[in-house]
Amino acid sequence: MIKKVLIANRGEIAVRIHRTCRDMGIHTVAVHSTADSDALHVKMANESVCIGNASVSESYLNMPAIIAAAEVTGADAIHPGYGFLSENAKFAQMVTESGFTFIGPDPEHITLMGDKIEALKFAEEAGLPTIPGSGGPVESASRALEIAEKIGYPVIIKAAAGGGGRGMKVVYDKDSMKDLLQVTMTEAKAAFGDGRVFIEKYLEKPRHIEVQVLADKHGNVVHLGERECTLQRRHQKVLEESPSPTLNDEERQRVFDVSINACKKLNYVGVGTMEFLYEKGEFYFIEMNTRLQVEHPVTEQVTGLDLVRQQILVAQGEKLDIVKLGNVKARGHSIECRINAENPDNFLPSPGTVTDYFTPGGPGVRIDACLYPDCKVPPYYDPMVSKVISYGNDRKQAIKRMRRAVEEYIIGGIDTSLPLHKRILENESFIKGDFDVNSLERFIQGGNF
Ligand code: ADP
Repeated sequence: MIKKVLIANRGEIAVRIHRTCRDMGIHTVAVHSTADSDALHVKMANESVCIGNASVSESYLNMPAIIAAAEVTGADAIHPGYGFLSENAKFAQMVTESGFTFIGPDPEHITLMGDKIEALKFAEEAGLPTIPGSGGPVESASRALEIAEKIGYPVIIKAAAGGGGRGMKVVYDKDSMKDLLQVTMTEAKAAFGDGRVFIEKYLEKPRHIEVQVLADKHGNVVHLGERECTLQRRHQKVLEESPSPTLNDEERQRVFDVSINACKKLNYVGVGTMEFLYEKGEFYFIEMNTRLQVEHPVTEQVTGLDLVRQQILVAQGEKLDIVKLGNVKARGHSIECRINAENPDNFLPSPGTVTDYFTPGGPGVRIDACLYPDCKVPPYYDPMVSKVISYGNDRKQAIKRMRRAVEEYIIGGIDTSLPLHKRILENESFIKGDFDVNSLERFIQGGNF
């Protein structure tokens, strides 16, 4: 039984994980940088350890310091949250070898899915539909031109080790191929330490649909429905919802079936997300995330499950209650708006001190945040400071409640993306559910969805 969890993260997700541990009677250890001494996750946890200076390499990515913190506090398990070390197989390995339980999947699955080229190879073997492409790394411009000629322009060059919407370039014609290939390779090497890239057909109007999966150590795998994460800026999700307003029941079942089959083939354990692009009734697998997602609360709202609790139970070796979970029926509709500390017009980060702070409430509203009055938003980390999650009997009600929540929300002293969300929620195409992955960019540039 896990009695004490060290949360190797910061911000809203560290607070979120603490809350479930609190519900389960599990003690928590927060780790923090010198810049986060007064952060909410530190105040909430039962114990805290300062692990280093503000820079992430010295703190939240500092593996030996995190393991040492677990040792001195006598933690049983480590939860990595998302981002930082959550998809670092070496860290997962180190946690286990140091005698702690890693609340996450096996290192080999993290490694496989962290390499998009290998992940796509696996996907094809596992019967997942994929986008036509190079089927492996592309090293020369001549090979890139050959592939693009075969699949047709536009194509997208992607870094094998890419993530967080970075490491991708769209190529519209053969004249720009050579330069863009070189730029993507150089950037990939600098950002991820791995310059390998591959090519696939660039879909022009896809939607992003993902399936939440959950698997235990006894071979049981269930899906917990889908999420639509089509509204993105720079390939990063801005607003997510569950269920998708576009899929019909046949399509839904189809994507659930292929996802579950692939996880069974993989012997996957833990929570995971199978990401697909969806266009003209077809799904195309793009990647699997081997961790809890930022947008997991919309799944929690419609299924009534606590995913962090499920992660802990699975890590303890418990058997999923397959009868109960196999029949999870999504009920109602949930939307999540990611609130960033940034200027809503030019998107520049807006760190600083939060002056006024008032959180919305009332029926169907949940806030996962790391803010309080007079708290500091440091400049060193991800700008996402809060998530507003709404729930309604149907999408219409979830939208209305989200509008109420973003109107009520007061975050003074710093700029936030709340005004952008207010505009999205009033947009006719959004209300109709009529959009693709480029809609939000067009809207931000002053155009239509
Ligand atoms: P990351 O790992 O950086 O999140 P993904 O492969 O998950 O990257 O892709 C993120 C987003 O990039 C997708 O949701 C989609 O908007 C866009 N994208 C990725 N591949 C393609 C493609 N082949 N065609 C069109 N858009 C794509």
